[in-house]
Amino acid sequence: MAAESVTRRVLILGSSGSIGTQAVEIVTARADLETVGVAVGRDWRTAVTQARSMGLETIAVADPQAASEARENFDGNVLEGPDSAVEMIGLTRPDIVLNGIVGAAGLGPTVAALTGGIDVALANKESLVIGGELVTELAAATGARLLPVDSEHSALFQLVENEDPGAIERIVLTASGGPFRGRTDLEGITVEQALDHPTWAMGGRITIDSATLMNKGFEMIEAHHLFQLPYEQIGVVVHPQSIVHSLIDLRDGATLAHLGYPDMRVPIAYALTWPERAEVPVERLDLAQVGSLDFEAPDPETFRCLALAREAGEQGGIAPCVLNAADEVAVASFLGGEISFSDIPRVIEQTLEDMGSGPARGFDELFAVDEASRERASEIISGQG
Ligand code: MG
Repeated sequence: MAAESVTRRVLILGSSGSIGTQAVEIVTARADLETVGVAVGRDWRTAVTQARSMGLETIAVADPQAASEARENFDGNVLEGPDSAVEMIGLTRPDIVLNGIVGAAGLGPTVAALTGGIDVALANKESLVIGGELVTELAAATGARLLPVDSEHSALFQLVENEDPGAIERIVLTASGGPFRGRTDLEGITVEQALDHPTWAMGGRITIDSATLMNKGFEMIEAHHLFQLPYEQIGVVVHPQSIVHSLIDLRDGATLAHLGYPDMRVPIAYALTWPERAEVPVERLDLAQVGSLDFEAPDPETFRCLALAREAGEQGGIAPCVLNAADEVAVASFLGGEISFSDIPRVIEQTLEDMGSGPARGFDELFAVDEASRERASEIISGQG
């Protein structure tokens, strides 16, 4: 078929981040992929460097101050402001948007791409955590695909692809357990300790979310929406080596697992080249060298965030949106030295309680709930002062 020779046009949002820079590297190395645009939050220098090396005429920079600095240093066009990533989608009309934006800011671009029938390689967790019900309905309505980039969801996506949905009894997300695995008391943890993740090098927010296990909680919610499974069919197992990326249990008693060294280039490449498999120059797995793989049950009593996420996911509606907003505020406050590590779940639980529950009727409502939850979380934090 001629389809193989057609170049897939890729727009990379969050191109200066960990996922974004690796995506640029993968696209650049492949003749059948082409980057048609990059968007960043604040790091205009990386965006300008990427634009020059790939011959792009327009970049998007969300932060106005950073955008004006970009304009002084870049001959092309600079789209500016919080809607600049969405504008970039309209301007470039790509075949696929890689959404590597961190936080709730990633939801708008996901919605814009799906509305336009454009596939989304999704690394932005919040799109599904906050807007899961509406986002998956939107994708179904326009026929656009959500291709997961998160390592666990990519693994699951690859595992379930060839199975009859009725044959899947359970999906199991693996969790590294973070730097505090095994601890039963999370008092007195410093920012430096929390930022020191044992297996994955990532941005600040997701590293803290991995340390609290909130990241795994978000991933359960994402998995619920991506694979349309109830929460009782979604499990978590702690696996410190991060070699097994996830597993599925099938009705005949077989369990399938996806393995490899932790390297995000594999899931990024899979999302961008699906349904084909790219040649990716990562280290090949040598199990004899790995030696042994360990597994243990998670401890949701110590790691309260995992339990809070499951509860919010089961509740559905606005609850996951509140969960995420409260977590973003609490993590930023922890990183800023305003609250302790063990305050993070307290702030989230209180915000969830104060915001109540209800259905998510539309994206505008979710954005309003997001804002109100942030305000509430901030008030709780300053009250605790
Ligand atoms: Mg993950």
